[in-house]
Amino acid sequence: MGSKNIFDNEDILLIKKEYDLLMDNLYRCDKEGDRDMIERAYKVASEAHWNMRRKSGEPYIIHPIVVARIVNQEIGLGAKAITAALLHDVVEDTDATLEDIEKEFGSKIASLIDGLTKISGTYNNRNSSLQAENFRKMLLTISDDIRVILIKIADRLHNMRTLDSMPEHKKMKIAGETIYLYAPLAHRLGLYVIKSELEDLSLKYRHPKIHNEIIKKLKSTEKKNIALINRFAIPIIDRLTEEGYKFDINGRPKSAYSIWKKMQTKGVPFEEIYDILAVRIIFEPLPGIPEKTQCWSIFSAITEIYPLKPDRIRDWVSRPKPNGYEALHLTVMGPEGKWVEVQIRSYRMDEIAERGYASHWRYKGDADHENELDKWIKKIRVMLDNPLDDPVEFIDEFKMSLFSSEIMVFTPKGYLINLPKGSTALDFAYEIHTEIGNKAIGAKINYRLQPLSTTLQSGYQVEIITSDIAKPEKGWLQHVATSKAKSAISGALKTEIKDRLQKGKEILEKRLNEIGVKPGSGVFKKLLPAYEVLNKDELYSKIGMGIIDLSDLKKIVKQNPGSKIMKYWELKLTGSKKGEERKEKRSAKESPVKIDKDVPYLLRESVSESKTTYEIAKCCNPIPGDEVMGYISPDESIIIHKPKCPVAVRLMSSEGNKIISVKWTIHKMVSFLARITISGIDRIGLTNDITKVISYELNVNMKRINITVNNRIFEGVIDLYVHHSKDLNNLIMKISSIKGVESVKRVEEFTEE
Ligand code: MN
Repeated sequence: MGSKNIFDNEDILLIKKEYDLLMDNLYRCDKEGDRDMIERAYKVASEAHWNMRRKSGEPYIIHPIVVARIVNQEIGLGAKAITAALLHDVVEDTDATLEDIEKEFGSKIASLIDGLTKISGTYNNRNSSLQAENFRKMLLTISDDIRVILIKIADRLHNMRTLDSMPEHKKMKIAGETIYLYAPLAHRLGLYVIKSELEDLSLKYRHPKIHNEIIKKLKSTEKKNIALINRFAIPIIDRLTEEGYKFDINGRPKSAYSIWKKMQTKGVPFEEIYDILAVRIIFEPLPGIPEKTQCWSIFSAITEIYPLKPDRIRDWVSRPKPNGYEALHLTVMGPEGKWVEVQIRSYRMDEIAERGYASHWRYKGDADHENELDKWIKKIRVMLDNPLDDPVEFIDEFKMSLFSSEIMVFTPKGYLINLPKGSTALDFAYEIHTEIGNKAIGAKINYRLQPLSTTLQSGYQVEIITSDIAKPEKGWLQHVATSKAKSAISGALKTEIKDRLQKGKEILEKRLNEIGVKPGSGVFKKLLPAYEVLNKDELYSKIGMGIIDLSDLKKIVKQNPGSKIMKYWELKLTGSKKGEERKEKRSAKESPVKIDKDVPYLLRESVSESKTTYEIAKCCNPIPGDEVMGYISPDESIIIHKPKCPVAVRLMSSEGNKIISVKWTIHKMVSFLARITISGIDRIGLTNDITKVISYELNVNMKRINITVNNRIFEGVIDLYVHHSKDLNNLIMKISSIKGVESVKRVEEFTEE
């Protein structure tokens, strides 16, 4: 290391300041030895990271100190977690070993650190995802100690807060992974505040322009909203004070991310979303009355002042969310006819909402009853015990488990079964028992016979009808949502295929034996083409199922090789050719994109620009002018996506090391296919007007237009070749202003027809 790394006075002062901030504000660390352990951990960490700096230039040790602070002050964990947070990068980044940690701090801390240390390994092009494996490794600790994951979330939060100093492609990777996995994980664990900060930071780095715009607009509407909220709150404050409540009431700011997401899903402008105001009332419960009752008293006090919107009551008090969240939400009509959402909760409920139920995690020994979070963790455990072969698929599966909210259904005897939303009767069968799933043929749902693929709703009563001769079918995989059912079905299918192959092989050998022929390669050369199968397994399998009955076996075996062999080879060749044709590629010579400078050296070698081909992703169809990023596919061509494309987000979080930054280099010769849809009220001459506008646009070339009219409503799909998103936006503006046209939208996902 060069001399510029050596810490100077300023560095040492900075370290001391950050460390004091931790030590002076310790929360729940008053057991004997707590402070001492933290001080020792700091000493070990600061020696290990001595004279090391982060990308931003600040001393490395600042990072573990801040992570420890987040763990303690923002998540609410105690001394052991602080210790582990301080030491979390020591094993990975310095010479210290896990054994050293164990000797000094005991096995508990060592196992926390182990869970936090990445699997090291060189990046392997073929083997898809070290990143996914590392995530899985971290999750393996989940049922032993959820603190590993909480510390990991704190680590990620600090990395996101300091993401500015990272190179562009790393920003994308880290921000993508954050939005795909860490924010939903924080949400699942009830860390609402952290979840929403992670989302906002991720938006900031993935879409800087949009983020800026939203923040600016939020600022400009802030004053007006504060005034409105004050007017709204005053009568409530009077009323609740009169009734003897101690409480806080505050306006809740909406996060930039939540606004952006609503703009995306609802396709409406900022103004419409920010229209809804939100207020939170946090109260100190009066003694002797259940908190739940008090929530409802406050509820009725508010609805006596403002009219209630009846379909917007959310009662998380009677039945808390799976992650432990409790509160009563309602929406009322406030001053100036504006809707105001009000959240009512006690200080205890608020603590859970802010810091997460996980921070109150009961360590082994004092568990009273199993809560929803415990149950979720159990499910993760099952997923980890039956891993899918592909680690990337595992990540997707895990993500599903984060989002799936639960439904509750009943067995005929009235037992309650929890299933993820979207589960079918078949999932229910497998949830009860694998054998019931395997033998299922139908279901009685609320006493009526229904197919196994029926999607269940909360409150249904379900009875599974089984048959001894039933067995799982391949199509079942499409009708189940739980990983338990999925892995049971694939398992059963695999065994069945094996059985069938074995049976087919035995039958064939027996029949060959009867006609006095040995099953050598010469025989198969005749059999495969004769039965029009590609390999031995297919032959065995078809014999096993009875599709091939072998009645003409003797004739085929005795016959001379001839024309049918030709057919076999032909079949194979056309098969592979087709696959190649499907991939439409352009060569680098006409490449409209260039690889950004900060690509890591290793990758740059494998994607040297001259030999690389690129493809425009069909899932988001970016055109010049759109924000883009590149993904190096397994065959080393670069696929261009929009960063907000869901496929791209998934790639960033599972194969982030294959993500590169790319920039458009505009070539006027190259044009890109884009699609727009138009709808409106039909009138005579409308189509003509639209095509006229398009043909006057110099930089746009129409490829296809398709307009249908139904009850005077017309809908049109137009495919166009354009050079730049500017040209497209220009055209959209012009079409929008045609009389009768109600909406014009660009379509992101489409395939060329
Ligand atoms: Mn770290």
